[in-house]
Amino acid sequence: MNDAIAFPTDDPGPRSLAELEVRLARDLDFLALSPPAKNWLEPRAHPEWGPVLDVAIVGAGMAGLSAGFALKCLGVRNMRVFDRSPEGFEGPWATFARMETLRSPPELAGPALGFANLTFRAWFEAQFGRLAWTKVHRIPRLQWLDYLRWYRKVTDPPIENRTELVDLTGDSEAVLLTLRSAAGVERVAARRLLLANGRDGLGGAYVPQLFAGLDRRCCAHTSDDIDFAALRGKVVGVIGSGASAVDAAAEALEAGAMRVAMLVRRADVLRINRGKGIWSPGMWHGFNRLTLAQRWSFVQGAIRCCAARGTATFPSSRAVPRATSRYATAASCSTPRAERSPSTS
Ligand SMILES: Cc1cc2nc3c(=O)[nH]c(=O)nc-3n(C[C@H](O)[C@H](O)[C@H](O)COP(=O)(O)OP(=O)(O)OC[C@H]3O[C@@H](n4cnc5c(N)ncnc54)[C@H](O)[C@@H]3O)c2cc1C
Repeated sequence: MNDAIAFPTDDPGPRSLAELEVRLARDLDFLALSPPAKNWLEPRAHPEWGPVLDVAIVGAGMAGLSAGFALKCLGVRNMRVFDRSPEGFEGPWATFARMETLRSPPELAGPALGFANLTFRAWFEAQFGRLAWTKVHRIPRLQWLDYLRWYRKVTDPPIENRTELVDLTGDSEAVLLTLRSAAGVERVAARRLLLANGRDGLGGAYVPQLFAGLDRRCCAHTSDDIDFAALRGKVVGVIGSGASAVDAAAEALEAGAMRVAMLVRRADVLRINRGKGIWSPGMWHGFNRLTLAQRWSFVQGAIRCCAARGTATFPSSRAVPRATSRYATAASCSTPRAERSPSTS
């Protein structure tokens, strides 16, 4: 028990997720959102494509989930949400994200949309107590995913997993999505399409042309499903020094790589995450009002800064002596000889 901590209220809050869910249901009821508002949009049919959804959302990660819930609150019910991942594995958290904890601070309200009982903190305190919350420096990555799974359960947007958007067309009436799932190919028309497909929406992982022809047994992008165990005893080269590069280096060393050499084009590794500027409320409220040129310049600035590695990546348990960094180094490569044994050296 830590007597030094003064809580702003005597209310210890819900003591279980079940209790929290009751409180959330009460909040929604007070706001006439339980059940969510009635659909108010006139049903529409396209002359060629048939019934038209009011909104189609592609992606059920954090953005797609919260958009689905926000639309439900607005009484938009004729909606479907599609994600190609299996249920509960949306977004990067349990696939290619390798940091031990989130990089963003736990206080960010994330997808809670103004509902205090829908925040990560409410979810956490209901299970572990408010004293435990005072000790959270960063949220463990998979715990964040557990929270998102709970968020999905309690907000219940109409998500269809393992369903991928493979083509998009449309006319002045509607957009037409071509979706592929185990059931086959389906075409769905919608008045509005919300692309919440995360970084995949930016064209996918970027592999510089220089490495395009390399044998895939020898190289991988950090967003690939990498078999780190296969790197045991090997020398691994990591190109870049952004957060994912450092995460991958740490993971390789933990999996028993003999040595990891990081090749860094900059003169020094980033230590300050200037991208943190986007956490300000001014950013959330004002970004849409900036001109396109201002937005472009802002985002370019953030991209140039990248995400600095941080405690999320290298807590003391990950401080390993077998990593070396070479700064101001440009990578070059040659095609590996066919007889060379697979390695990433
Ligand atoms: C390694 C790493 C660490 C990160 N750490 C943080 C952090 O600490 N804090 C933070 O705020 N953010 C972090 N981010 C950024 C993080 O990705 C976003 O905050 C969050 O995941 C964005 O949510 P999203 O819904 O926009 O995208 P995502 O969570 O990526 O969700 C997009 C979804 O769209 C689906 N999808 C994509 N294309 C299609 C398609 N064609 N058809 C159907 N479905 C599709 C995907 O399956 C995915 O589930 C990190 C990202 C990475 C890669």
